[in-house]
Amino acid sequence: MPPQLQPVRGTRDIIGEDAARHAYVVETARRVTALYGFSEWQTPIFEDTKVFSRTLGETSDVVTKEMYTFEDRGGDSITLRPEGTAGVCRALITNGLTQTLPQKVFYQGPMFRYERPQKGRYRQFHQIGVELLGPSTPLADAEVIACGWKILGELGVAKDVMLNINTLGDKESRDNYRAALVEFFTGHAESLSAESKIRLEKNPMRILDSKDEGDRKIVENAPSSAAYLSAAASAFYEKLQQNLASFGVPFVTNPNIVRGLDYYNHTAFEFVTTALGAQGTVMAGGRYDGLVEQMGGPKVPGVGWAAGIERLSMLVETAASERASIIIIPEKGDGSETTAIEAATALRGQDIKAEISFQSGMKNGLKYANRMSATWAVLVQEGSLILKNLEDGAQSEVALDDLVARFSK
Ligand code: ATP
Ligand code: MG
Repeated sequence: MPPQLQPVRGTRDIIGEDAARHAYVVETARRVTALYGFSEWQTPIFEDTKVFSRTLGETSDVVTKEMYTFEDRGGDSITLRPEGTAGVCRALITNGLTQTLPQKVFYQGPMFRYERPQKGRYRQFHQIGVELLGPSTPLADAEVIACGWKILGELGVAKDVMLNINTLGDKESRDNYRAALVEFFTGHAESLSAESKIRLEKNPMRILDSKDEGDRKIVENAPSSAAYLSAAASAFYEKLQQNLASFGVPFVTNPNIVRGLDYYNHTAFEFVTTALGAQGTVMAGGRYDGLVEQMGGPKVPGVGWAAGIERLSMLVETAASERASIIIIPEKGDGSETTAIEAATALRGQDIKAEISFQSGMKNGLKYANRMSATWAVLVQEGSLILKNLEDGAQSEVALDDLVARFSK
């Protein structure tokens, strides 16, 4: 026998209860985002590498270490998407939608990052996300966050999660803050991790996002961005907090929320849980006013978030209970199949879940009904239907019309 094939490290099959939870997260997000007026977009899973390398930041972890990049047979550099925002902004431009604003986008699907696999961290993972493109007012930031909060509420996980917000300010604030960080971290340079020493040269703000224990101790005493905000940036942040309060979204401010990608300004936020160990961020996002321009489009401000479906699925208690099926069991060989097909078609026609047993004969059919935890079976014998209650064993003959009427709402 040839050796058994294995899934690629960091990938997993989503089957059974996992699949039900995954679908429940996506369906809940789709329903709630529609309430806020978002429409679903599907962009390609792979893009020209430049879509990501130009936008996420040449020194970001994602671009330097995590991208699945390869040359295709035509010699073009292709990258499996590591996140959704860059593709949505690329699509906004290439579909000529930059003059038709606002655009309110919901997306969901697989993302790919070459990371060390562990609980809640995979190489193929899945996200739900929203982007609100056009408005530059803090009302948009609050609306996007409130929509995320509502999804977490509907999934029943809001109680485990806390919203942390921060502001990165505008360009002026960022430049001032950056200078202050360089000064501070240069004073601690010899104690920083090797990676953060490089960050200090290339992108000092990222040190705030370091996951290294030693770095985190130093970061505790780093200057916070608040002192370096311009008046305009402070007013924006103030207004965001007022709007979040009006939407009824609880939050704490946290100066260490900086996000891993280069394109953010003003608002940065994360919904964090303590229930998943180190992989505690379930939903994260911010404002990215320069991104569309950076990709060669006009200036279109934007704000959005993405959430990891695997991490949300782990918090969801149980998926919405599937309606149990009625199992229709044709007797072996007496032509009952035709009657079974008629019964299944009539039930499904009224949105009643019905399955025909493929097992041979009554006994095996009932075993299958038991495995599916069905409450009802319909035994088909010599063209007649017998409805059997599988909980108490009671059974009686029924006409097809009565069977359908009985299970219709
Ligand atoms: P982390 O700090 O955990 O690496 P991140 O800042 O890289 O997260 P984002 O790029 O903001 O994450 O992605 C948004 C969300 O997607 C994260 O909050 C998380 O829930 C999920 N996510 C990110 N990377 C992974 C992964 N490798 N496996 C599973 N989920 C992930
Ligand atoms: Mg990451």
